[in-house]
This record gives sequence, structure tokens and C-alpha cells, in this order.
Amino acid sequence: MPDDRIRAFLFEEARSRFLNYVTFDTGSNPDSDRHPSSPGQWEFAGHLVRELEALGLSNVERDGFGYVYAQLPASRQDAPVLTFCAHMDTSPAVSGTNVRPVVHENYDGGRIAFPGNPDLVLSPDQCPELRQFVGCTLITASGDTLLGADDKAGIAEIMAALSAFQTFGHLDHPTLRVVFTPDEEIGKGADHIRMEKLGNFGYTIDGGMIGVLEDECFDAVGADLEFIGLNVHPGAAKNRMVNAGALAARFVAALPEYEMPEHAEKREGFFHVTRISGEESRARISLILRDFDHSENARRVEWIRQLAGVFEHRYRGLKIVVQAREQYRNMAGVLARYPQVIQKAERAMKLAGIQPFRSAIRGGTDGARFSFMGMPTPNLFTGGMMFHSLMEWIPEIALRQSAEVIVHLCRLWVEDHC
Ligand SMILES: [Zn+2]
Repeated sequence: MPDDRIRAFLFEEARSRFLNYVTFDTGSNPDSDRHPSSPGQWEFAGHLVRELEALGLSNVERDGFGYVYAQLPASRQDAPVLTFCAHMDTSPAVSGTNVRPVVHENYDGGRIAFPGNPDLVLSPDQCPELRQFVGCTLITASGDTLLGADDKAGIAEIMAALSAFQTFGHLDHPTLRVVFTPDEEIGKGADHIRMEKLGNFGYTIDGGMIGVLEDECFDAVGADLEFIGLNVHPGAAKNRMVNAGALAARFVAALPEYEMPEHAEKREGFFHVTRISGEESRARISLILRDFDHSENARRVEWIRQLAGVFEHRYRGLKIVVQAREQYRNMAGVLARYPQVIQKAERAMKLAGIQPFRSAIRGGTDGARFSFMGMPTPNLFTGGMMFHSLMEWIPEIALRQSAEVIVHLCRLWVEDHC
């Protein structure tokens, strides 16, 4: 069991590493064809390799795509091999250049100001979870960048647990495989993964509030529509022109507004138009469809095909080509077959004094894709809040608590197997 000495060690390890990691500029770039998509990720991966080697891990590697892999042999044999995963990049939605972490000690429950942005305020009105951390130390950025707790907190928490295993010889763990992925925020985190480098079961450390255990994510479909019209001189267009661009706009207007992300929450799904472009002869619409229920997305695809048929019938000469493709699936179906993966995470949290709460991610994770590639992988909390924003924050205590959960989790996998 981690005693006070080990808890203090985990805290110091996670905190100091985290405050260093956030200073690396690792924003991913959705417009890049390179892997990783930004040079800062490559540099950060190199730094992590040096830290993993310094901790004495084996098979430490940064591969050509920027993935970092490492291994720690089991303290006792004969337990399933576990993988811990976190991502190195930060969201391109907000700048991650020159992140200056600000430590707010003894939070008073009121508004938090940012030294680099006088107009910005973080308050319990926007983020009621703050009220749970009165008297605690919080970390934010300085107001002009994101913090990058998503997901550098996850990396720091995994590294702190690895460091504890190497420093305190009596902490049991199975064979551990670690992977830090690039470009998760632009949907490419699992594109070049080598599954043979991973274990039987995995955990991503990439969730929000302390206690979060995510075993479900969206089912995701991408749909591209191409409108093919007929352009003629507008002066002679009557009964001849078929204006693809104008009809694409009408098509978007015919989508059900109540099923758009702006009006959806909790377990509700949506149609979301991500791009519309075109002119008279050709136009394109790109959509993403999201739901927890695969059959609901299948219904949406069918709805789009039927609407396309109606448009072709109504506007003679118009042709609409609909292409739908699966992007990722809800991992709940896979995880349901391995209930021990979730049960052990819940027990580990309780042992660390945390009340776990299961929730569903309104998005995807690398773990969702790993789950379908053969390694069931739910997502555990980092403790960070308001990801992808200038107001991103993390209570310092979360860094220790997450690392402690990882230590408990490793022991449970060994003990339950003996
Ligand atoms: Zn993340």
C-alpha cells in the first residue's frame, strides 16, 4: 500500500514533471501531412525518451512517427501485460506556445485572474467544480495559452508511478508497456500504433475531473456529399441551370436543427456540418455524425441518402454522390466483454480515497481505437478541467491522486492473478 512517504514522492514527481512538460510547445497541426504533425512533439518525445531511460525502463524507443514506447518488467510473473497511454500533443484550438504555468495557492473559492490576460476570469459560475477545491492549490496557464494538462498531466502521472516502482522495490506491478502518442487531438493518435508493442489490457490517462472513468465514447461516422449541377450563363439560365452551390446550401438548411451539436448534450447524438464549399457546377458538404448508439448513426446516414434522393427528384439534373465512412466505434461493446478492466479501475480509485464515477465521452479517445484493435482500453481521469481553453486548470492534488490510482491498479492486477 502506498504510505505517506510514497504519496509525497508521487506528488513531487508528478508535479515537477508536469510543470516542465507544459513548457514544451506540442500543439498538433491539422493541416500537416507529417508525422508527428509539429516539430515540438518530436522534441518532447525525445525528452520523454531520456527520462524513461534515466528511470531504467527497457526497450525505450521514439519511432519514426514520433510514438514513444517503453517497457518495465514485472515485479512478479504471470499477470496480464498492462499498457498505460497518454498523448503528447495539445489541441490546436488554442495556442500552446510559451506556456507559463501559474500556481494559485490556497484557492479562496472566488474569481481567478490571469496575469497575461486582464479580460479573462475563471470563476465557479463557469466551472462549478472549482467549489470542491477551496483551500487547495490550483495550476492554470497565464491567460494567453492553454495549460496542456490535456494530456501532459496524464504523462506526468504515468511517469510518477513508473518512478515510484523503480524507487520503492516493494510495489508490485505486472509487466508494463507505456506508449505516448502524437497527434491525438487531430484524430491521428492511433494511425501508426504498433499493437505488438502494447499489452493485453490498457488504460488511457486522458480524462477530466478526479474520479472519472470513461468506458464509453461516441460512435463516429464521416459523410461527404458531392453536388454535381449544370452551369450556364445566368442570362439564359431559365429551366437550364442547376446551381450545385445554392442547392447544397438548401440541403444544409433541410437538416434537422434540433439534432445539431449546439442543441445536443448528454447521450444525444447529432449531425454536424464541418465544411461547405462550391459554385454552380460543383459543391461539397462534409458532415460528421455522432451518437452513442451505432444504429442511430446508421439512421442518420439513411436519412441523408433519402434527402439526397428527394433533392434529385425535386431539382431535375442535379446529382448528389453520398459517401459515408466509419471513423471510430463506441468502445462500450468491447469493454462489456472484459468487466474486470473497469472493476479494477473502480477498486483502485476507492483504495486511493476517490469515489469513481462512470461516464461516457462525447468524443473519441485513442483507447477507443485500441479497444477495437484488440486491447480493451478505458479512459481514466487526469484531474484537469476546461480542456482546450485559456482557462484550463488542474488542482495540484489530482496529479498525486491519479499516480496513486495507477500504483493501486498495477498491484490489483498482480494480486488478483496470484
Ligand atoms: Zn486529451
